[in-house]
Amino acid sequence: MTRSTAISRTYLRILPWVLVLLAGSIAAFVALRAPKHGTAPSARASGPDAPRVGTDIPKIDIHVHIAPRLAARAVSLFRENGIEVAVNASGGAPSQGLELSQEVAGQTGGRLLFWCNLSFARVEDPEWPAYVAETLETCKRSGARGLKIYKALGLGVRTSDGNLLAIDDPRLDIVFDTCGSLGLPILMHAGDPVAFFRADGAQNERHAELAAHPEWSFFGEYSPGHAWPTWEQVFTQFERRVLRHPHTTIIGTHFGNSPEDPRRVASMLERAPNYYLDTAARVPEIGRQPAVPMHAFFVKWQDRILFGSDTAVTPDGLVLGSRGEAYDPPARVPEFFLAQWRYYETDERHLASPTPIQGDWTIDGIGLPRVVLEKLYHGNAERLLHITLPTATE
Ligand SMILES: [Zn+2]
Repeated sequence: MTRSTAISRTYLRILPWVLVLLAGSIAAFVALRAPKHGTAPSARASGPDAPRVGTDIPKIDIHVHIAPRLAARAVSLFRENGIEVAVNASGGAPSQGLELSQEVAGQTGGRLLFWCNLSFARVEDPEWPAYVAETLETCKRSGARGLKIYKALGLGVRTSDGNLLAIDDPRLDIVFDTCGSLGLPILMHAGDPVAFFRADGAQNERHAELAAHPEWSFFGEYSPGHAWPTWEQVFTQFERRVLRHPHTTIIGTHFGNSPEDPRRVASMLERAPNYYLDTAARVPEIGRQPAVPMHAFFVKWQDRILFGSDTAVTPDGLVLGSRGEAYDPPARVPEFFLAQWRYYETDERHLASPTPIQGDWTIDGIGLPRVVLEKLYHGNAERLLHITLPTATE
């Protein structure tokens, strides 16, 4: 065997390994070049400081609903879409799910945190003040980011006289004051879309949702002789509640509980420095407002708005903002989130709504500057809810 044949045989023997190593370094190089956070689908926004839509900025979703045993699935679904931390609004009350939520927060390395809940049905119980104090102290100790109040307060919980418990009932002051002194923010849903307070029918702009969920209608009577309050009455109770507790942080869900009227929200933001808002499930609503004033709104109130999606991961299926009779297919998840990133990050017009069942219209993007996006997506949540973003390797 000649010397050159020996060399080429050796070369042939090591060639596959050279190729494997080469492929490995290319993969490592590609991984380094890939966006640091998530693998969300993307589009390109315009302008010199424009991020790649939905991929450059890590996100904290402060408003989701997750069945604790599906936490791992929920966390990967969020991470695939650029959301590094989510906060479960269905965190439970002490001995009613709270302990499990605390466990899940540990198991997920702080990627699925939680709000705690409290039962307003106990308001007439003589032990009510003690129950409130004990519940909220336990919530604080368990690591809850705050208290989540459902729309059942104002539209569901009834007292022994058969009336709905009003949001501004003085017996509830202790809840709001205690949260203030414990430093627990409140995530508060009050009311619902204005259309749910109007007669259903083909003319109702939310007819598709009401047809699938007639129980979401607040029109007419809730029991014989008891009329539902109007939207205006519920929102007025909520305003009084927020103004009564200047030392308690209250985050109005669903764009401050008045997405149809951003001017009303702005006037509350002016009057109540303790009032904040999340965007959960309301991009379809605010997206039909004229884009220029909405852009100005987000810029002016950039320290008071927190990103939320209202995504629900339940044993029965997914809910992406809202749903019809069927649950949402997992295949719709990327477009649900991408529609929201495009709304915030681009000036595109006539975008498809992330949650089409909420109304038959398109939305117009508001092309926010990067500094505002950073606050909306994670900065405000980090500050207000004391959340630390995991580093890229965690
Ligand atoms: Zn919700």
